[in-house]
Order: sequence, then structure tokens, then C-alpha cells
Amino acid sequence: LTKKDLVVGIDLGGTKFRACLADTAGSVLRRESWPTEAEQGPQAVMARLREAVREIAAGEGLERVAGIGFGAPGPLDPWQGIIIQPPNLPGWDRVPLREEMQRDLGVPVYVGNDANLAALGELFFGAGRGLHNIVYFTVSTGVGGGVIVDDRLLLGSTGLAAELGHMVVDASGPLCNCGNSGCLEVLASGTAIAREARAGIRKGVSTLITSLVQGEDDEVDALVVEKAARQGDPFAAKLMETAARYMGIGIVNALHIFDPEMVIIGGGVSQAGDLLFRPMLAEVKRRAMKAYWEKVSIVPAGLGDDSGLMGALALAISETRR
Ligand SMILES: [Zn+2]
Repeated sequence: LTKKDLVVGIDLGGTKFRACLADTAGSVLRRESWPTEAEQGPQAVMARLREAVREIAAGEGLERVAGIGFGAPGPLDPWQGIIIQPPNLPGWDRVPLREEMQRDLGVPVYVGNDANLAALGELFFGAGRGLHNIVYFTVSTGVGGGVIVDDRLLLGSTGLAAELGHMVVDASGPLCNCGNSGCLEVLASGTAIAREARAGIRKGVSTLITSLVQGEDDEVDALVVEKAARQGDPFAAKLMETAARYMGIGIVNALHIFDPEMVIIGGGVSQAGDLLFRPMLAEVKRRAMKAYWEKVSIVPAGLGDDSGLMGALALAISETRR
């Protein structure tokens, strides 16, 4: 009998997916990334996912793989492994990812929301190692989250839990993609920072941002704003600070609800470092009850861009151990 001592983790995104093969302690043996080509629809993407699993396990043999963990964009049903209708996977409508992959590969498949799994990744292998209660925020084009309560990933009654990006942080704020207004995502994401930058430029604000993108409005993104802020541009610095303060408000809400030991901030925008963290922490201190902020650490993700991929591995490892 072949020993099943390996696991596969896959992080499925709208533009690319990444896969890795690891042992059940989480040591990565091989990793690779492929374009998703989401516009080809779910059947084509799933065929490529299966191919990727076979390819990445080819050296050791698929028969040694005990389980495959999938991080996918929500909303999804983590128990059935059904992808419900994610905005960045066009044409995916209640796609039974788990069933389809399992049937073809003959290996148990586990599916989780990518931001939720990033929290699990940080708990198993990243900044949250050894802790029991953590709140994870990912801040990139959107804002997502995952919550670990007493060592367990919080899923909720229908598996949709921990949409931290859609907590309201300004009741009179702008309209969000979700239909609500004033959500954390619409005020603190990279998209929000870029939107405010473009709005200011259109109003004629004088800023370094315009020279950094040579007047190309559609090249304005959070990274350019961050760069301008670093070069001392007051308008860009103010934009970063405003987004960071909203993040601070989001964190305060999370502290009061979940009482975590640690709050972990991942995603592209978290790489702005002090530009994000300083005003964010100041806002937390200003608003949270002392008993909550005094003992909590608020830190950048330990795994950087890999939280989600390592989380998919963590899911496969924890599920196959059961
Ligand atoms: Zn929203």
C-alpha cells in the first residue's frame, strides 16, 4: 500500500492560480503558477486545474496525495465545495468544484473561501503560529477576511462567515459593490485609494501622482499613490492615511466582537508598511476600549503573498488528519 504522505494546495484566483505540493508538515516540495483564463468558463478552468494537480504531483505520484485543499473566491459552500457566483469568475454559477475534482482525480478535495483560508494559513504557518484566536484582513483590490475562534475557522451557519470587508465603517459613505454603502472595502481597499486619487486629480489637485503616471488616469493605482506618499506628496499621504484610519475602525470592531490575540493584515496594500500601520494603529488606540488594544498585536502577514496558498495546504492537512 502506498503511503499517503503528501498534500496539494491550490489558490484559485480570477487571473492566475497557484498550486503547491507539500508534505503533511507543510514543507513545500514544488510550486507553480498558471493563468486561470476564467473567460473560458468553469469546465475549461477545471480541466486545467486537474492537469495542474497531475503535473505537480507527477514526480512523487498522485497516489501519495492524501488530500487537495482549494482556496477559491467566495461566495461558496465550504462543506459541499460549491462555488456559488464569485464576481471575478464570470460564468461560475453553483459549480460543484469539490465533486468534479474528486471524481476525476480520485483524491479527497476540500474547498474554502480564499480569505478564510489565508487566516488558516497564517495560523498554521505564519504570524499566528501557536495562537488560538486571530482575525485576518486582506487588503488589496477588495478587503476580505478570516476569523479563527478557539483554534477553529469561523464558517457561520451557511459557510459565508467573516466578510470583514463588508462591515459598515461610515454610515453615509459611498456605495459598495455589494449594494450597501460605507463598507470597509469601499473606503480602505486599493481600489478605494485609487478612486479617491483620480477624483482629486480630476478636481485639479496638484500632486506627484500625475507625474508618476505621465497623465494616464487609468494607471493610477494604490501602488502609485503609495509611491507618491513616500516621496512626500501631501495629497497622496492624506489618501493613504484616510484609508488606514478606516482600516483602524474595522479593526476596532473586530477587536470588540472577537477579542483576538492577534490581528494580521495581508494583501498588497499591507505592504505600504508604516504609511498604513501608523495611522491605523493610532485609530485603533483612539477608538478601542483599552482592555482590547492593550494586549493585542496588530501585525503584517507572516507569509506575505503566500497566506492563501499555505491556507489551502493547511485545510488539506487539517482535514486529512481528522
Ligand atoms: Zn459592501
